[in-house]
Amino acid sequence: MSAPNKAFDPVSVSSLEPAAVDGMVEAALVAISAAGDLEALKAARLAHAGDRSPLALANREIGALPPAAKAEVGKRMGQARARVRDALDARTAELEAERDARVLVEEAVDVTLPVGRRAMGARHPLTTLMERMSDVFIAMGYEVAEGPEAEAEWFNFDALNVPPDHPARTMQDTFFVGTEDSGVVLRTQTSPIQLRAMLERDLPIYVVAPGRVFRTDELDATHTPVFHQIEGLAIDEGITMADLKGTLEHLATAMFGEGVRVRLRPSYFPFTEPSAEMDLECFVCRGTSVGDPANPCRTCSSEGWIEWGGCGMVNPRVLRAAGIDTARYSGFAFGMGVERTLMFRHGVTDMRDMVEGDARFTAAFGIEV
Ligand SMILES: [Zn+2]
Repeated sequence: MSAPNKAFDPVSVSSLEPAAVDGMVEAALVAISAAGDLEALKAARLAHAGDRSPLALANREIGALPPAAKAEVGKRMGQARARVRDALDARTAELEAERDARVLVEEAVDVTLPVGRRAMGARHPLTTLMERMSDVFIAMGYEVAEGPEAEAEWFNFDALNVPPDHPARTMQDTFFVGTEDSGVVLRTQTSPIQLRAMLERDLPIYVVAPGRVFRTDELDATHTPVFHQIEGLAIDEGITMADLKGTLEHLATAMFGEGVRVRLRPSYFPFTEPSAEMDLECFVCRGTSVGDPANPCRTCSSEGWIEWGGCGMVNPRVLRAAGIDTARYSGFAFGMGVERTLMFRHGVTDMRDMVEGDARFTAAFGIEV
């Protein structure tokens, strides 16, 4: 490598001879095509097209040539450097394309591979069913009422007309918080919410109370110690049993289809007087399976009716306990199990499926968030 020629003489410079320049270009092209990746190409660019490359150094010698030779040599050098530059550009494009293709392959997702799939969360079918039932009442002008799950024994039993010697009021049936004389129980029904509504709200009262209740049952196919009820309460002037039946039939139609009837059978509940068991006309066979062994119905066991819950006119003693003028106001109340509703509405046969948290059970109800 010669130093820049400052003497403007001799007439020719050896590094600018065509053969020498061709050799430099050839070396550069070999190095460029040999570069296996962009890093190697960067080194080749520095060595063969950088400020200290043979071509760059030779280029500086042009100034030492006689003016007559400058044009020709300058043209030759320009072409030589352009060849190297073009080769660099082409190889850069090649290597970048290779890199991009490799990244696509390396970062591609193989959708056929098994993956640790995380299912999207969804609300439990009991929750969505409770909300749907509540919505039917909200549309009729009811409000949703809530109450504590750890409830005063007085609210859960006494005020609802359950006498102190009632068998439900023992540790056999009821979870007491603390000792049996603590006066606090895990509510065994959602009815105390109704009483709280009577005490806290102005008349008239239209509330629906969905909630979790507790009883000392072992978990089996038809029992669970924690389950859900939904109750309704209406207190107004002139409320009759006919209002109750019409309201229940509206709920039945909304939940099970147009024209599904409700049947009331006389019964007894301390909270209501008169009281009735509430049956739902089988929404699958509409009673056609009764007495027709050729077409049995699994939903109603070919009985035509399904037991759904209890209801009645609010016992005046309960109204008086809440300070309501029974000469002026009357009311109805009803309640049904949400698990039971889910069971016959969706053909669920084992209550344990609802509490064990197996996503295969809940997934069948679809994703609802
Ligand atoms: Zn049926």
